Amino acid sequence: MKPQAFDYVRADGVAEAVELLGSSGEDARILAGGQSLMAVLNLRLAQPSVLIDVSHTVDLNYVRPDNGYLAIGAAATQGSVEWRKTLTQEVPLLAQAFPHISHFQIRNRGTVCGSVAHADPSAELPLALVALGGQVVLRNRKGRRVLAAEDFFLGMLMTARAPDELVEEVRYPLADGRFRYAFDEFSLRHGDFAIVSVASVVGPNSIRLAVGGVSDRPRAKTWERLQGADLESAINDFAWELGARDDHHASAKFRRQLVRHLGNAVIQKALS
Ligand SMILES: Cc1cc2nc3c(=O)[nH]c(=O)nc-3n(C[C@H](O)[C@H](O)[C@H](O)COP(=O)(O)OP(=O)(O)OC[C@H]3O[C@@H](n4cnc5c(N)ncnc54)[C@H](O)[C@@H]3O)c2cc1C
Repeated sequence: MKPQAFDYVRADGVAEAVELLGSSGEDARILAGGQSLMAVLNLRLAQPSVLIDVSHTVDLNYVRPDNGYLAIGAAATQGSVEWRKTLTQEVPLLAQAFPHISHFQIRNRGTVCGSVAHADPSAELPLALVALGGQVVLRNRKGRRVLAAEDFFLGMLMTARAPDELVEEVRYPLADGRFRYAFDEFSLRHGDFAIVSVASVVGPNSIRLAVGGVSDRPRAKTWERLQGADLESAINDFAWELGARDDHHASAKFRRQLVRHLGNAVIQKALS
């Protein structure tokens, strides 16, 4: 299928992008890498009358350590973050998550902010953001607001972003030397969306496990340093809490089993 006709506007700067978004009303959509949006348009799941392209916006094309976070602007591609030489030291969880996202051609065009804005419950970058307790910076014509990742994701492809707001920046906390990080997922083929993905953050007094692909959004749980049967029991409770459902990719039972198996494995990996 082909998309419904739309106007295309290329924003030269962030101020122009938010001005256009504010003046175009709910009919406008931001175009970042187009890696998810074009499929949505071709299937006519959305029929915006105007696309505002931010992919060439120089003042949104940045990746930089800033005040304890790796700050990533809306025009920065996934590849430009993944291929930073310092990423393993800066945000080790992201370095582990990127290779699971489709293939490098997609990561070469797709943006980090676009993945977060799209809010696919199986996507790796929203999961890593929730696991690490990151932030989303939203900007409209009136100003900015900063949301915690867990408050930003509301459901499947649903976020707290208002129609006139741009996801201007996402912030991944920089690595803390006292913590260890691990990521893994199960998919049918390499590059496919995950059936279940897991991320763990283990600190001196805490174990945090985040799970994607089961609930309608990435979800996380933090425990004290449980071990053995206590840890297995806590992960099992979490697997049930996520409310897995049967679909054509996997049964709810299989998804719960993946949470138990991968969840424990990824925690052990971080501990080791
Ligand atoms: C074949 C294929 C396989 C894929 N596999 C995976 C996978 O395994 N894992 C995974 O996580 N992803 C996967 N993706 C999706 C990919 O990671 C996309 O790059 C990602 O969803 C972001 O897309 P984008 O930056 O191109 O945003 P677009 O497609 O341009 O936009 C996506 C949505 O977000 C909105 N948006 C984008 N940027 C902003 C912003 N700054 N502010 C407000 N709204 C914004 C758009 O309006 C649109 O609604 C796959 C894509 C393809 C085509």
